[in-house]
Amino acid sequence: MIDIDEKSARHICLVSGGKDSTALAIHLRDTRPHLEVEYVFCDTQKELPETYEYLVRIEAYLGKPIVRLCSEHGERGFDHWLQMYRGFLPSPSARWCTKVLKIKPFERYVGDDPTFLYVGIRADEDREGYISTKPNIKPVFPLKEDGITKPDVFRILEDAGIGLPDYMSWRSRSGCYFCFFQRKIEWVGLMDRHPDLFERAKEYEKPEEFFTWCQGESLVDLEQPERIQTIREQELRRQEILAKNRKPRTLAEMFAPDLVDPDEEVGCLICHK
Ligand code: SF4
Repeated sequence: MIDIDEKSARHICLVSGGKDSTALAIHLRDTRPHLEVEYVFCDTQKELPETYEYLVRIEAYLGKPIVRLCSEHGERGFDHWLQMYRGFLPSPSARWCTKVLKIKPFERYVGDDPTFLYVGIRADEDREGYISTKPNIKPVFPLKEDGITKPDVFRILEDAGIGLPDYMSWRSRSGCYFCFFQRKIEWVGLMDRHPDLFERAKEYEKPEEFFTWCQGESLVDLEQPERIQTIREQELRRQEILAKNRKPRTLAEMFAPDLVDPDEEVGCLICHK
């Protein structure tokens, strides 16, 4: 890591369209007004409409445009890369999408400029987020440094009048509408809220070649009425456990799908929140 001078460096805040990175953008504006911050969104071109709408709300509050990498900067979208990967869908163990759609475009955007990268990891989280392999990019964690926890994030968004992104009524994170990190109940939510996007997600799958978004289950299987009923019941059970304010204790609970608080699951490190 090279020494980076705050005055001459670039200051970049990655905005994902999620609650934490939005709170970070607001927090930076309010607590470090001397910094000339660039707000950057890595656009896969497959985000939810609610995310694009939320970005416009954030821009209005910040009074500054958010740079959309991909569409504005000649970067290629998901479909191009899927072709390059011969239709091999990304998954938690083959996460090529994060690399080619988020990390590489971002690193190209920064180039060799000495840069402070502001990352929205909260004080109550135990994860590292994006780790730069480039010595000219130095990550900074203002939410962590300033002791900002999840309730503070909600307060910051409410005080700013921005509120939460609309998708949070049915999905916990930003990201592509077909993201393989989403929970089964969120797939059901996509089917309810955006049946057209659910159909498009289905079209990407090739179950005969084992190319499915969820491991071992195609969306055609998932959309069957009995399966949806089971997923909804599991979600109710999960909500009951969370409402009792306890973590799953029994082994059966530990291995039951979708029982942990989604906010504590590890998702795409540069994509979400
Ligand atoms: S949101 Fe999900 S599918 Fe989209 S780039 Fe990130 S990990 Fe991949």
